[in-house]
Amino acid sequence: MERTLVLIKPDAVEQNIIGNIISCYESAGLKVTALKMEQVERKVAEEHYKEHYGKSFYNSLIEFIIRSPLCALILEGKDCIDKVREINGATNPKEQKEGTIRKKYAKGITENCVHASDSVESSEREIKIWFPNLNNKK
Ligand code: ATP
Ligand code: MG
Repeated sequence: MERTLVLIKPDAVEQNIIGNIISCYESAGLKVTALKMEQVERKVAEEHYKEHYGKSFYNSLIEFIIRSPLCALILEGKDCIDKVREINGATNPKEQKEGTIRKKYAKGITENCVHASDSVESSEREIKIWFPNLNNKK
Protein backbone atom coordinates (compact mmCIF):
# COMPACT_ATOMS: atom_id res chain seq x y z
CA MET A 1 0.00 0.00 0.00
CA GLU A 2 1.28 3.51 -0.83
CA ARG A 3 2.57 5.65 2.05
CA THR A 4 3.24 9.34 2.49
CA LEU A 5 4.87 11.53 5.12
CA VAL A 6 2.86 14.46 6.44
CA LEU A 7 3.98 17.25 8.74
CA ILE A 8 1.45 19.31 10.63
CA LYS A 9 3.68 22.36 10.86
CA PRO A 10 4.25 24.61 13.90
CA ASP A 11 1.73 27.24 12.76
CA ALA A 12 -1.04 24.62 12.67
CA VAL A 13 -0.11 23.17 16.08
CA GLU A 14 -0.14 26.74 17.46
CA GLN A 15 -3.64 27.29 15.98
CA ASN A 16 -5.01 24.14 17.77
CA ILE A 17 -6.08 22.53 14.49
CA ILE A 18 -4.20 19.20 14.66
CA GLY A 19 -7.49 17.32 14.97
CA ASN A 20 -9.18 19.19 12.13
CA ILE A 21 -6.27 18.42 9.84
CA ILE A 22 -6.08 14.72 10.70
CA SER A 23 -9.86 14.50 10.16
CA CYS A 24 -9.43 15.72 6.58
CA TYR A 25 -7.18 12.75 5.82
CA GLU A 26 -9.24 10.18 7.73
CA SER A 27 -12.43 11.37 6.04
CA ALA A 28 -10.76 10.72 2.70
CA GLY A 29 -10.28 7.08 3.70
CA LEU A 30 -6.57 7.34 4.57
CA LYS A 31 -5.13 5.56 7.59
CA VAL A 32 -2.72 7.05 10.12
CA THR A 33 -0.07 4.35 10.72
CA ALA A 34 2.51 6.39 12.68
CA LEU A 35 2.29 9.65 14.61
CA LYS A 36 4.54 11.76 16.82
CA MET A 37 4.86 15.30 18.08
CA GLU A 38 8.16 17.04 18.73
CA GLN A 39 10.11 20.26 18.40
CA VAL A 40 12.70 19.23 15.83
CA GLU A 41 16.42 19.81 15.83
CA ARG A 42 17.77 22.08 13.13
CA LYS A 43 19.69 19.23 11.48
CA VAL A 44 16.51 17.21 10.98
CA ALA A 45 14.73 20.19 9.43
CA GLU A 46 17.73 20.81 7.17
CA GLU A 47 17.81 17.18 6.03
CA HIS A 48 14.07 17.22 5.34
CA TYR A 49 14.24 20.43 3.28
CA LYS A 50 17.68 19.91 1.71
CA GLU A 51 16.29 20.29 -1.84
CA HIS A 52 15.60 23.95 -0.99
CA TYR A 53 19.09 24.72 0.38
CA GLY A 54 20.33 28.05 -1.01
CA LYS A 55 16.90 29.35 -2.06
CA SER A 56 15.80 32.80 -0.88
CA PHE A 57 13.23 31.38 1.55
CA TYR A 58 15.42 28.55 2.91
CA ASN A 59 16.58 30.20 6.16
CA SER A 60 13.14 31.49 7.12
CA LEU A 61 11.65 28.08 6.27
CA ILE A 62 14.07 26.30 8.65
CA GLU A 63 13.52 28.87 11.43
CA PHE A 64 9.75 28.39 11.03
CA ILE A 65 9.88 24.59 11.12
CA ILE A 66 11.97 24.49 14.33
CA ARG A 67 10.28 27.31 16.26
CA SER A 68 7.75 25.13 18.16
CA PRO A 69 6.48 21.54 18.14
CA LEU A 70 5.12 19.91 15.00
CA CYS A 71 3.45 16.57 14.26
CA ALA A 72 4.87 14.02 11.85
CA LEU A 73 2.66 11.25 10.57
CA ILE A 74 2.60 8.48 8.06
CA LEU A 75 -0.59 8.00 6.08
CA GLU A 76 -1.40 4.91 4.09
CA GLY A 77 -3.95 4.34 1.35
CA LYS A 78 -4.48 3.93 -2.36
CA ASP A 79 -2.86 6.84 -4.27
CA CYS A 80 -2.29 8.60 -0.96
CA ILE A 81 0.66 10.68 -2.21
CA ASP A 82 -1.46 12.51 -4.79
CA LYS A 83 -4.58 12.49 -2.61
CA VAL A 84 -2.84 14.17 0.32
CA ARG A 85 -1.25 16.86 -1.87
CA GLU A 86 -4.73 17.59 -3.24
CA ILE A 87 -6.23 17.77 0.26
CA ASN A 88 -3.38 20.05 1.41
CA GLY A 89 -3.72 22.49 -1.50
CA ALA A 90 -1.23 24.40 -3.63
CA THR A 91 1.95 26.08 -2.38
CA ASN A 92 1.01 29.39 -4.01
CA PRO A 93 -1.86 31.02 -2.04
CA LYS A 94 -3.37 32.32 -5.31
CA GLU A 95 -3.74 28.74 -6.59
CA GLN A 96 -5.31 27.23 -3.47
CA LYS A 97 -8.73 25.70 -4.12
CA GLU A 98 -11.68 26.10 -1.75
CA GLY A 99 -11.88 23.30 0.80
CA THR A 100 -8.16 22.58 0.93
CA ILE A 101 -6.33 22.74 4.26
CA ARG A 102 -4.06 25.54 3.11
CA LYS A 103 -6.95 27.64 1.74
CA LYS A 104 -8.78 27.27 5.07
CA TYR A 105 -5.91 27.78 7.49
CA ALA A 106 -2.62 28.95 5.92
CA LYS A 107 -1.39 32.42 6.81
CA GLY A 108 0.97 32.75 3.86
CA ILE A 109 3.34 31.01 1.49
CA THR A 110 5.75 29.89 4.23
CA GLU A 111 3.36 29.36 7.14
CA ASN A 112 1.14 26.92 5.29
CA CYS A 113 0.16 24.38 7.99
CA VAL A 114 1.07 21.13 6.24
CA HIS A 115 3.73 19.27 4.31
CA ALA A 116 3.27 16.12 2.24
CA SER A 117 5.72 14.04 0.22
CA ASP A 118 5.60 14.74 -3.50
CA SER A 119 6.63 11.32 -4.91
CA VAL A 120 7.21 7.70 -3.91
CA GLU A 121 10.97 8.41 -3.68
CA SER A 122 10.44 11.46 -1.43
CA SER A 123 8.02 9.58 0.78
CA GLU A 124 10.51 6.76 1.42
CA ARG A 125 13.35 9.27 2.03
CA GLU A 126 11.24 11.38 4.39
CA ILE A 127 9.79 8.42 6.32
CA LYS A 128 13.37 7.34 7.11
CA ILE A 129 14.19 10.84 8.40
CA TRP A 130 11.15 11.17 10.64
CA PHE A 131 10.64 7.53 11.68
CA PRO A 132 14.12 5.99 11.57
CA ASN A 133 13.19 3.15 13.91
CA LEU A 134 10.27 1.98 11.82
CA ASN A 135 10.54 -1.10 9.67
CA ASN A 136 10.97 0.79 6.43
CA LYS A 137 10.06 -2.04 4.11
CA LYS A 138 6.84 -1.40 2.21
P1 ATP B 1 5.84 21.06 1.33
O1 ATP B 1 7.13 20.51 0.79
O2 ATP B 1 6.00 21.74 2.67
O3 ATP B 1 4.72 20.05 1.29
P2 ATP B 1 5.24 22.21 -1.18
O4 ATP B 1 5.70 20.90 -1.74
O5 ATP B 1 3.88 22.69 -1.52
O6 ATP B 1 5.33 22.22 0.38
P3 ATP B 1 7.85 23.29 -1.76
O7 ATP B 1 8.14 23.94 -3.04
O8 ATP B 1 8.38 21.91 -1.50
O9 ATP B 1 6.27 23.35 -1.54
O10 ATP B 1 8.36 24.26 -0.61
C1 ATP B 1 8.57 23.81 0.71
C2 ATP B 1 8.03 24.83 1.68
O11 ATP B 1 8.82 26.01 1.59
C3 ATP B 1 6.60 25.31 1.40
O12 ATP B 1 5.62 24.49 1.97
C4 ATP B 1 6.61 26.65 2.06
O13 ATP B 1 6.46 26.50 3.48
C5 ATP B 1 8.01 27.16 1.75
N1 ATP B 1 8.07 27.92 0.49
C6 ATP B 1 8.03 27.42 -0.77
N2 ATP B 1 8.13 28.38 -1.70
C7 ATP B 1 8.26 29.53 -1.01
C8 ATP B 1 8.43 30.90 -1.39
N3 ATP B 1 8.48 31.27 -2.68
N4 ATP B 1 8.52 31.81 -0.40
C9 ATP B 1 8.46 31.47 0.90
N5 ATP B 1 8.32 30.18 1.34
C10 ATP B 1 8.22 29.24 0.40
MG1 MG C 1 7.59 20.04 -1.17
